Amino acid sequence: MPPQTATHVLRCVYCGKVQETADRMFRCTQCSELLEAVYPEWASAPPEFALRLKEIWRERRGSSLPENASGVWRFRELLPRVERQHIVTMCEGNTPLVPLKKAARELHLPNLLVKHQGMNPTGSFKDTGISAAITMAKAEGFSWVCCASTGNTSASVAAYAARAEMKSIVLLPAGQVAAGKLAQALEYGANVLQLRTDFDGCLRVLHEVVRKFSAYLLNSLNPYRLEGQKTVAFELMEQLDWQVPEHVIVPGGNLGNSSALGKGFMELRDLGLIQSLPKISIIQAAGANPLVRTMRENGGTELIRVTPETRATAIRIGNPASWRKAVNVLKSSGGACEEVSEKEIAQAKAELGAEGIGCEPASAATLAGLKKLVAAGFVKSADKVVLVLTGHMLKDVDYMKQLPGQSLLGPMEADGDAVIRTLEQIYARH
Ligand SMILES: *Cc1c(COP(=O)(O)O)cnc(C)c1O
Ligand SMILES: [Zn+2]
Repeated sequence: MPPQTATHVLRCVYCGKVQETADRMFRCTQCSELLEAVYPEWASAPPEFALRLKEIWRERRGSSLPENASGVWRFRELLPRVERQHIVTMCEGNTPLVPLKKAARELHLPNLLVKHQGMNPTGSFKDTGISAAITMAKAEGFSWVCCASTGNTSASVAAYAARAEMKSIVLLPAGQVAAGKLAQALEYGANVLQLRTDFDGCLRVLHEVVRKFSAYLLNSLNPYRLEGQKTVAFELMEQLDWQVPEHVIVPGGNLGNSSALGKGFMELRDLGLIQSLPKISIIQAAGANPLVRTMRENGGTELIRVTPETRATAIRIGNPASWRKAVNVLKSSGGACEEVSEKEIAQAKAELGAEGIGCEPASAATLAGLKKLVAAGFVKSADKVVLVLTGHMLKDVDYMKQLPGQSLLGPMEADGDAVIRTLEQIYARH
């Protein structure tokens, strides 16, 4: 029998030092860089181990046990070992993979799909990561969890903490969080503190807090967040019948998501479940483009911080924690790192909306970036392309009001003829 979840150690992404456990900050004890979970036992696993996984995972899909119904824990052979009773899950993952039509025609990409992570329990991909990390917090006996957030992490932390009967602290940049996300954190009963700073400032303050206050850190510096988030690669490959797409495109903020996605694909390849990697490309807003600048100006050796400004608030980050991991993913997979303007994001979001696919501005950056990658010849017509849509449209409805091509008509007479006349006028114009 293959192992049920794996024994892991934590390895520094920079100096390679291996440690069994980490302190509350999840930093390397030697060089202070981030850690990642690795599983030494996989190296000695018999070849049947990997082959049987596809079958085991498929069988679990029909099961109603919480640990099988979860799109994270269904893949537990490739996750840290935990006891069943500690698993905190709300059936996260299990998100749809939907083909685009209009955009596919316009870009001459017949194989263009979106993986809609906004269909998670709290409306963003963060749930897959929080399910994994809060499970570790529970296993370690914590009763408080905390995060700094641009909004979605706080919504997810608040909800999962409530499920786990834990208390949560969320630090938000005052006045910079979309209303839907704030409403969620409050609804789920988090202790919400707005600070007069940006996201990067909130994370800095959180470090101070955790040093003195016993709360488990749920930001994506926490390597277990990424273990949950990497399962999107497993689920996506299942949905594609294990045929590797040429391209997967994600938005990049703090760069945990792109790092996790890359880690998931690399593990599948190393275990022999897939034979090659997709090119994983990362798209940033031009006003919050530290990774784009870092790649362009020094090839990924030293982070160039920026003061971030974008209306895509989920990626309004100038000092991304997981930049080294993301550079590694770009280099290993051969992906591109591109930036898009506010106008390009808004246009892409309107186009997705016009296909019945609602998402956050940050998510729409993927389609905007794809257009550039097609124009540059990096993405070709025969390629299969998956855009990862990271968050749900209803998170940020204020943004929608300013989109191009929206038409709210009236108020007008409550009269059938008036309605028909209005429609005739509009269509006469076309
Ligand atoms: C968090 C988030 C991002 C950015 O992900 P990172 O892991 O910080 O790069 C993008 N889009 C949405 C909707 C998010 O919630
Ligand atoms: Zn180190």
